Amino acid sequence: MHLIPTHRGRPSDDPIFTAHQEATRRKARGEPIVDATIGVLLDDDGRLAVLPTAVRIVSEVPALEWATYAPIAGTPEFRRAVIDELLAGAPALRENALAVATPGGSGALRHCVANFLEAGQAALTTSWYWAPYRTLCDESDRSLDTFTMFARGGANRLDVDALDAAVARHLATQGRALLFVNDPAHNPTGYSMTDDEWGAVVDRLAARASEGPITLVVDCAYMLYGPREPGRVAAALQPLAGKVPVLFAWSASKSYTHYGLRIGALVACVADPRERAMVESAFSYSCRGTWSNCNRGGQAAITRLLTDPAAAGACNSEREALKTSLRARVDAFNALAQRRGLSYPRYDGGFFVTVFHDDALAKAAQMQEHGVFVVPQVLPEGGGALRVALCAVASRDIPRLVDALA
Ligand code: PLP
Repeated sequence: MHLIPTHRGRPSDDPIFTAHQEATRRKARGEPIVDATIGVLLDDDGRLAVLPTAVRIVSEVPALEWATYAPIAGTPEFRRAVIDELLAGAPALRENALAVATPGGSGALRHCVANFLEAGQAALTTSWYWAPYRTLCDESDRSLDTFTMFARGGANRLDVDALDAAVARHLATQGRALLFVNDPAHNPTGYSMTDDEWGAVVDRLAARASEGPITLVVDCAYMLYGPREPGRVAAALQPLAGKVPVLFAWSASKSYTHYGLRIGALVACVADPRERAMVESAFSYSCRGTWSNCNRGGQAAITRLLTDPAAAGACNSEREALKTSLRARVDAFNALAQRRGLSYPRYDGGFFVTVFHDDALAKAAQMQEHGVFVVPQVLPEGGGALRVALCAVASRDIPRLVDALA
């Protein structure tokens, strides 16, 4: 056997894509299927919802832009445009910000794992989390550790005590802590933190900053789909400037409905100029050592969408229309699910919601028999849930979906 032992037996397929393929296969046979597995926004006819202005701007990028290499760390215009968009309302972070282009938010998360943890160390995130976090850590010979996301009996408040205790534990045992927080519209729960909750997290991290290096990564893949103003998270994090480096895994996938374009960025706000220069070099080095550079045409298109006022304005109103139809699904789900007594966290917008269920695997299998596909999740410490991708479910199917869940 030539494959190294630690890489043998790795699953080639992602469970979400496998469930989605099965749903698609049965749909093609003519079965009436509700497929709530896949995290892309579909319209009520099951077609990918795309922003027409983004499609037009991508098609207007000249052929030579697509053909030419981009600089290793991304084009300067793209990097500047992302910083400006993300940190417009957070001057204390913006003045110390740097960015590199990455293939989606996934690439940004990859660079965080590789540069803020030594091999063998663990990143930290909420007990409900997007499964590729673990894959990304595993792939870089790091691991993933979690803290209880919601305190017992309360699914409407982040368990800040658990977060704080886990950060303290990582500082004590491995001398550093790398914390991933996916907000707003957390995948898989749909939970969006309030300003108060972010304030509490900021207080705890600031209080621990003298105990060792803490790095906070905000995975903001769904930042334009949350219930509050998109700039509020960055604004709330400003008190960390100079104490805890704040990083953002930024993605154009959902914001511009161009998932396959693979454009994202890692933005890092590092107060100390010497450290900032070192971080920037380390990121460039990581780019060179992984994907070399990201496609230049995609960066050109997204830069234009971010900076051309007419294009940005058109995208905003087209996205608002998508959000309004997603919101109608969320409202319909909430009304029916509450009536049926389903247990799930506060859900006020976003692609997903997670319904708690003690026997999630059996429940998901039983739902599949009835033609309704969701993604089961089981926590190692006990408890389970079903992730429901409302983004992919037509409004007319929501009553059937809730029936199956109940
Ligand atoms: N983070 C979360 C929580 C996600 O759900 C996704 C995509 O599904 C991403 C990050 C990254 O997506 P991409 O690499 O397409 O930007």
